[in-house]
Amino acid sequence: MESFNPENFLILIVDDVSKNLQVVGAMLDEVGYATTFATSGKQAIERVKTANPDLILLDLMMPEINGLQVCEHLKADPLHAEIPIIFLTASNDSQHLLQAFGQGAVDYVTKPYKAPELLARVKTHLELKYTRDELKKALVELETLATTDSLTGISNRRHLLTLAEREFQRAQRYRNPFSILMLDIDHFKSINDTYGHATGDEALKLMADVTRNALRQVDIFGRFGGEEFVVFLPETPLPDAVTVADRIREAIASVSVAMDDAAIRMTVSIGVATYQTEEPNLDTLLMRADKALYEAKQRGRDRVVADPTN
Ligand code: GH3
Ligand code: MG
Ligand code: MG
Repeated sequence: MESFNPENFLILIVDDVSKNLQVVGAMLDEVGYATTFATSGKQAIERVKTANPDLILLDLMMPEINGLQVCEHLKADPLHAEIPIIFLTASNDSQHLLQAFGQGAVDYVTKPYKAPELLARVKTHLELKYTRDELKKALVELETLATTDSLTGISNRRHLLTLAEREFQRAQRYRNPFSILMLDIDHFKSINDTYGHATGDEALKLMADVTRNALRQVDIFGRFGGEEFVVFLPETPLPDAVTVADRIREAIASVSVAMDDAAIRMTVSIGVATYQTEEPNLDTLLMRADKALYEAKQRGRDRVVADPTN
């Protein structure tokens, strides 16, 4: 955490006795925390929803809805369950405190409050919460890095194959048809050679965007390597897959990468293969699509060829 600054945190103080609110509020104000108050359990629950505080100091004993009930209510709500709750108690009432920890409280302070102790506990739990949140964010980022192709933002080869393997297993179990398209940009080397690698990269990004836009949400799309892409079409028999492939081919042929003095066009060749019930594994299916792609190249590129054994 960069230096800890109390001004960045909002603390909700809940107590039915307004004198207590004043005392605790003054201790927090003194070091710069932003504070907000509630004088009943009901009000506390409302305030959490509108103010979304970073931490709650919660009086255990209150009429009507007591602190334990407020805590239970908040912990059951995924939006607010992560807010640390420190209980404010009149005494070391161990039975109630056990219950409070059982409800998910992180700590407690007993009256009469001593500022250094209260502030130390508040700071500790804010820092813990911050560290936990950062860790979660880092995990999400790592997961994204591990599964996406950095240039195009679509699935990378490894992730693509993981998703494809899952689809393959499903097809085996439920006997669903599914098809795969293998796409390869035509004469891509000459785009690089003529306009430079950076322009080649732009063409790859455009290719990925256009293809993704031509697909359904359930379709799986990724970069297989270099200027080769693969699409998995769940629940799609061969004729429909060929239609999708042709739509993609036409869409790509109709766009261009804008340069200062030129508009670079490109075409793709696409091989199509469909899962067969006796298909041994994913590799055999990929190989059939690859052979069909090779055939499309042989026949002059900018075309779709379906695996003849399907
Ligand atoms: P074909 O029509 O037979 O597919 O010809 P091609 O030129 O597209 O095929 P080839 O496989 O010979 O060339 C692929 C080129 O793609 C070569 C490689 O430098 C380029 N390439 C691979 N990855 C990238 C990349 O990330 N960025 C750029 N700009 N070029 C790449
Ligand atoms: Mg190529
Ligand atoms: Mg290639």
